[in-house]
Amino acid sequence: MVYLDYAANTPVDKSVLDLYYDVTLKYFANPNSIHKLGQEAKKLIDDCTKEIAHNLNVLPEEIIYTSGATEANNLALKGICRRYKNFGKHIILSSLEHNSLIASASIMQEEGFEVELLPISKEGLVEISTLEKMLRPDTILVSICTVDSEIGLVQPIEEIAKLLKKYPHTYFHTDATGAIGKVNVNYQDVDLITIAPHKFYGINGVGILVKKKDVSLKPLIDGGRSTTVFRSGTPVLANIVSANKALDIALKKQEERYRHVLELNQKIIAHLSKYKKVHINNTSKSIPFTINFSVKGVKSIELAKMLEAKDIYVSTKTSCCPPETPSKLIYALTQDKSLASTSIRVSLSHLTTMAEIDEFLKVFDECYRKLENDGKI
Ligand code: PLP
Repeated sequence: MVYLDYAANTPVDKSVLDLYYDVTLKYFANPNSIHKLGQEAKKLIDDCTKEIAHNLNVLPEEIIYTSGATEANNLALKGICRRYKNFGKHIILSSLEHNSLIASASIMQEEGFEVELLPISKEGLVEISTLEKMLRPDTILVSICTVDSEIGLVQPIEEIAKLLKKYPHTYFHTDATGAIGKVNVNYQDVDLITIAPHKFYGINGVGILVKKKDVSLKPLIDGGRSTTVFRSGTPVLANIVSANKALDIALKKQEERYRHVLELNQKIIAHLSKYKKVHINNTSKSIPFTINFSVKGVKSIELAKMLEAKDIYVSTKTSCCPPETPSKLIYALTQDKSLASTSIRVSLSHLTTMAEIDEFLKVFDECYRKLENDGKI
């Protein structure tokens, strides 16, 4: 078995899971209870939140725990729109955003907001001059992912944040789900940041929304104080403790993991590029963790299934979209419908070995030959 879908989900790190298990057994009291057991649980949450905040270079009171990145994105987008609607009803999203943002924006449209999609350059980047032209006095939110989920393009977050600083009523949200543990970005001037530990070997079911202290939000889930008034519900201590551990490991090991993955990436790209019918959809702005390519004329799902039959697991695009539809992200980048309906995402990890890559490339060669023999390419 060769798993090459780490952008969709990563296996939990054993030490993170062990900690989750131990903490769940030991600290069962409600952290909001006033007795000693509750207060011990609360102290552990507070200590972990401080460490997470330190690692992210933000303040502990700026951390909001959610159930994942989808909830964090919903909270950021809907929360800002509903809180600041009196300042304006115009929002801008890049054309590379995850469905959780696109869908939240559609809901806001139903509530009277105007949503505009920001195009990207040939290299796949948001252009500051284009964004500047689209900004209006009533623009209250700009949401641009740090790294998208299909092509792995790293956006110029610091430059965008610098521009938006000049617009005091325009808040800036970035979905950093695909960035943590992979690239270093200075989020100092970003108002809201989405993070999901299950993308960096943490557990599923927890997310973080960083909301800077001078920014407000309308909560999605009401019900009184939790760790913050912006998201109610009994705090899940084990989620928080394990998120802290996963984040710490991901940041400490970032450089060494990046180097390993870069080597794997170079081997794959060099091999696939030999084929005339293969088009690499990545640009020079992509991270090495995410490889995206199309075999011209072969529907994504067909090739993915052929690989799966040989125990190789890749994806056609981000896992929340129906597999048979063309990739919106590849279309946004290439403006080419055939590339968008034939794209394959191979996503790598420090856990991926060179032997696994050799196996993948061997199987890919066999599939390619079969497609040729069958007259499909
Ligand atoms: N944002 C991006 C960029 C993602 O890749 C994903 C998951 O694939 C999400 C958001 C949603 O994450 P979650 O599954 O934690 O809700």
